[in-house]
Amino acid sequence: MKEPFDISSKVVVCTGIASGIGKAITDTFLANGVHGFVGVDIDETLDNVYKKELSNYSRSFYTLCGDVSDEKNVKKYLDLTLSKFGRIDVMINNAAYAQAIEIHNTPEEVWDKTFNVNVKSLYINAKHLIPHMKTNGGGLIINTGSISSHVGMPTQGAYAASKGALAQLTRQMAIEYAGDNIRVVAVCPGTVDTPLVHESAKQSGDYDSYMKKLYDGHPIGRIAKPEEIAKLFLYLSSDDASFITGANIMIDGGFTAQ
Ligand code: NAD
Repeated sequence: MKEPFDISSKVVVCTGIASGIGKAITDTFLANGVHGFVGVDIDETLDNVYKKELSNYSRSFYTLCGDVSDEKNVKKYLDLTLSKFGRIDVMINNAAYAQAIEIHNTPEEVWDKTFNVNVKSLYINAKHLIPHMKTNGGGLIINTGSISSHVGMPTQGAYAASKGALAQLTRQMAIEYAGDNIRVVAVCPGTVDTPLVHESAKQSGDYDSYMKKLYDGHPIGRIAKPEEIAKLFLYLSSDDASFITGANIMIDGGFTAQ
């Protein structure tokens, strides 16, 4: 009998793996015996971050450095996965760009970059991935959303708008491709202790009060560890989660229950 949350037959692609939640997903999936894993990040230190793992899992783990909002990189990481493993079972769109700025103060280039990385990259990904998944008899796409997909918060500006678009894109794609056995789900974390959060706190101009608000905002009284979020991705990627599609799953310490 298979263990719960078995991913030993799965070929997975994940973006934004150099740090935070993506790093925890990568570590968790490798530790749980994923069949194939291709990780993508714009951070040029990527291969250094995973020096040990690239050697320990040399037949199942590959990385690609590049911007996920650039179509040629999307083609590259999908082609790399297909050439190494012959199929893609799970696509995790996790990379994101965030600047903590009010809407009216947001420079146009920040607005555009936020939507290019957080939303347009998912469309470009779908353009090339969906035909493959259809041919392959199905698949799963997991998008990393946020509490900002669902509620407004000061200074979340363009980021919140992009995460709201991601939530609706998830529902839309789930409906559009349900008949092709392609499921589409979003994981929506509350605040997680990652570099992205500390960067936003610095940008807010008052690091301490920004962080205090984040802690106080979660009824559970703390923010999440990346590993707690990665375990939900593990479950969703296993066949145990086979009836879930079109859902924006909150993992937020009660934040949006208030
Ligand atoms: P992080 O900054 O630690 O990691 C994000 C990774 O994405 C980085 O390694 C970065 O280099 C990479 N990246 C950024 N832009 C990229 C691009 N254009 N192409 C390729 N890679 C790119 O952030 P995190 O907190 O781990 O965030 C991961 C996901 O979780 C994001 O989608 C974020 O919106 C979401 N999220 C985070 C929190 C939180 O509190 N940390 C809460 C809710 C949702």
